[in-house]
Amino acid sequence: MNFDLEQQERKATWNYTISTLEDFYENTEQYRAAIFPTRDDVKKSIENNFDTSRSTVDAVKEVVDGLSKYAVHTPHPNYYGMFNPRANFPSILADAITATFNPQLAAWGHAQYAVEIENLLIQELGKKFGYEAPNIDGVFATGGQEANLTAVLSALNHKFPKFGQDGLQSIEGKPVLYCSKASHHSGVKAAKVSGLGSNAVRYIDVNAKQEMRVDLLKEQIVKDLKDGCIPFMIVATMGSTGVGAIDPIIELANISKENNLWLHADAAYGGAVVLTENYKYLFKGLELADSVTFDAHKWLSVPMATSLYITKHPNILGKTFSITSDYMPEEEDEIERLGSYTHSIQWSRRFMGLKLYMPLLVFGWKGYDDTISHQIKMGKLLRQKLQENNWQLYNSTELPIVCFNDPDYEKNEHFTSFMYDSFLETGEAWINKFPIDDTFTLRACITNYATTEKHLDELIALLNKKRSTYSTS
Ligand SMILES: *Cc1c(COP(=O)(O)O)cnc(C)c1O
Repeated sequence: MNFDLEQQERKATWNYTISTLEDFYENTEQYRAAIFPTRDDVKKSIENNFDTSRSTVDAVKEVVDGLSKYAVHTPHPNYYGMFNPRANFPSILADAITATFNPQLAAWGHAQYAVEIENLLIQELGKKFGYEAPNIDGVFATGGQEANLTAVLSALNHKFPKFGQDGLQSIEGKPVLYCSKASHHSGVKAAKVSGLGSNAVRYIDVNAKQEMRVDLLKEQIVKDLKDGCIPFMIVATMGSTGVGAIDPIIELANISKENNLWLHADAAYGGAVVLTENYKYLFKGLELADSVTFDAHKWLSVPMATSLYITKHPNILGKTFSITSDYMPEEEDEIERLGSYTHSIQWSRRFMGLKLYMPLLVFGWKGYDDTISHQIKMGKLLRQKLQENNWQLYNSTELPIVCFNDPDYEKNEHFTSFMYDSFLETGEAWINKFPIDDTFTLRACITNYATTEKHLDELIALLNKKRSTYSTS
């Protein structure tokens, strides 16, 4: 068996793959944005027992066909969904280059160029978040989930110096952390995984804009202290997943300081606004947080598994993850500190950072400012067009997330489900539904840099048409 295959076959396959992918990329709009197949259909398309072999081109054909048919096409400009982007072209190349060289980022000594690139990106993004150069540290992570787990572990190691060696049982009292009711559920998963348990999470109620209520947070901390619990962390949601709410981070920073709590900013989605001249004011005070979660695989339009955890405590990751630093001299640690095995939940690690480095080489910060600002503009335009067509808005945010409904149906769950299903059936666009308290809303997020006014008009036309079939049925 020639596991490398013949060069001739490889070259033919590269060419075939490039032209097929290019075709999808250029003509994404001609695919269905939404899809709702049966499980049988999908399983039938992969009925393989691997007892026969085939040409590589045939294998590519089969897989491209399956992915074309059986996936919600998040790269589609009419995908108004969760924060899943269309990956920009340089970042797609990055994944192919990474797979070919397959650098091992566990240690600097194995992947000098790759590790230094990730370090550079962490430093530069840390500065954009407002941190000061000598103190910035961080690590690439698979997603906001891993980054938020890293935050919980950092906070535990910071507050409880014996946590790393002796674990939770060395803590006299029950450690508790605070986040808003609108925060992402990765917080509670982090609590489960870290051994704290989900009951360690205190959900603080939100105001009408879905921002954490500081008065209630203060009350809860007082109550917990009286009950013998040990508050150790506040998570500020900077751009909530549902409605784009931004917690009052400056007030949360004051409370953190008074109570010696780790303040983590979950800016998984919204963090991108710091790259814009016009909207970075929205995240004023972000630099007060001890650490930040930021998903490049959301608003920076790069493929999945590109997230960052960045902190202004340069020693905390080593303290949290390093197995060797206790008995290694500081100086020798400097280079060691850069590799992921001393720094991350992961050991062997993929070159995630290239997916961000390549687009930055090609487009620069200015390119990102333009594309993020464009999406914010499209969000505002969508709000305007919805109102002009008798849809009511239920959230207010500068971020391009719009929760809306026909006011006649705001208490009618059946209507939002009907609309949602109807989009899946016809497939021209994908939107979500999101309840805000006891109000049912439809949710559309501009998450694709290729979405233009023309697409918004298509969406409005679809919404109006579907609404009219509901009222007459
Ligand atoms: C998406 C999101 C997460 C989870 O991130 P993943 O990359 O999906 O793991 C966490 N917090 C917020 C606010 C998010 O929007």
